Amino acid sequence: MTDPRTTTPIMVRSPMGATVTEIDWADGTTSRLENAVLRGYCPCAGCQGHSGEIKFIRGNNADIATIDEVGSYALCFAWGDGHSSGIYSFRYLRTLGDLVQRTDARPDVPRAGTA
Ligand SMILES: [Zn+2]
Repeated sequence: MTDPRTTTPIMVRSPMGATVTEIDWADGTTSRLENAVLRGYCPCAGCQGHSGEIKFIRGNNADIATIDEVGSYALCFAWGDGHSSGIYSFRYLRTLGDLVQRTDARPDVPRAGTA
């Protein structure tokens, strides 16, 4: 069984104009998700179709207009182009965050300690 703290957000930080959204989880982990990654993995049927496979959709507007909590299990992001049908469950967000961290999919971000 999964520790429920791993999918319980305590804080979501997504400042206006920032390109990264940070989510602090109750287990002490912080997920740093680029807004472009969040948009690219929008889970709505319009973006993902019905194949059951989650794929990355390139090139869509990645400016976050608003973030709303949906029930107590998900977040809904509204994007700069008006798209807002993606319901991102906490579990989905945590999975994305862990994936990004594990694969180190941000090679263009300078790391602390490297010149
Ligand atoms: Zn979508």
